[in-house]
Amino acid sequence: MPSDAIPIIAVARTVLDLRAAVGEWRKAGLTVGLVPTMGALHAGHQTLVREARATCDRVVLSIFVNPRQFGPAEDFAAYPRQEAQDVARAAAAGAALVFAPDVAEMYPRGFVTSVSVGGPSQGLESTHRPGHFDGMATVVSKLLLQCGPDRAYFGEKDYQQLQVVRRMVDDLNIPVEIVGVPTVREADGLALSSRNAYLSAEQRAAAPVLARVLRAIAEGVKAGRVLSDEIAQGVVRLRTVGFDAPDYIALCDAVTLAPMERLDRAARLLVAVRLGKTRLIDNIPVVP
Ligand code: AMP
Repeated sequence: MPSDAIPIIAVARTVLDLRAAVGEWRKAGLTVGLVPTMGALHAGHQTLVREARATCDRVVLSIFVNPRQFGPAEDFAAYPRQEAQDVARAAAAGAALVFAPDVAEMYPRGFVTSVSVGGPSQGLESTHRPGHFDGMATVVSKLLLQCGPDRAYFGEKDYQQLQVVRRMVDDLNIPVEIVGVPTVREADGLALSSRNAYLSAEQRAAAPVLARVLRAIAEGVKAGRVLSDEIAQGVVRLRTVGFDAPDYIALCDAVTLAPMERLDRAARLLVAVRLGKTRLIDNIPVVP
């Protein structure tokens, strides 16, 4: 096979088929990595698959646009769906199997269970997307139990999600190692996101200011300046190029996500803000 040829990989639609494939690998003594996604794959997702492939013999990429983690006014119906392209991208990055169940397979009639994580799920996204993390935690716990991977890979792009998943896996003794992967960015600093496709050309040109503002605030607090002043300046800069008032810009403990006033331990600076109709999130580490 020429080196640029994309291997053809299988798509499992049912938990039974997923378990059969993973069972065969287990019998052969192979290790398994899981990369959960909602599809519309980009180079960020492919980096997760490559990371997984570097440490696991076989990689499963799941595609499921999870209705339970979208609010009633959110973009569930409009969320980009492009399975054939996703399967090709997953294969090109080294996945061995795509798991793409439909809603009835994940939530059959009579489904009434919800996984609700406290601690890091409180505040930030939860304030603006009530129920989002319950939906996410429910589907991620199902995926982990359905697949039974050795490791599961999540992007730091969704930093609060990553901390919620870590907490959940610890609390529920789910036997899996959670691996966080640094955010993949465009050359101009914009974090890759499936939702960037919603941006107009003009908005796309303004969008990298978000990452620049985060870096400026982080440098300010590292230099000992007052956090609230730095954030206020950042907000002005965002408004100038067309962003709305942010849902939040917050410096938080890197693990618990408890809010911080000053940089006295390892922290994360997190933001969510709308640019037109598109809600962008980003975050960076801030180390004293
Ligand atoms: P999504 O399908 O966009 O919800 O994301 C699936 C996984 O890919 C999540 O673990 C995300 O954090 C991760 N991800 C999304 N965008 C990026 C990015 N730019 N860099 C790294 N990981 C990402």
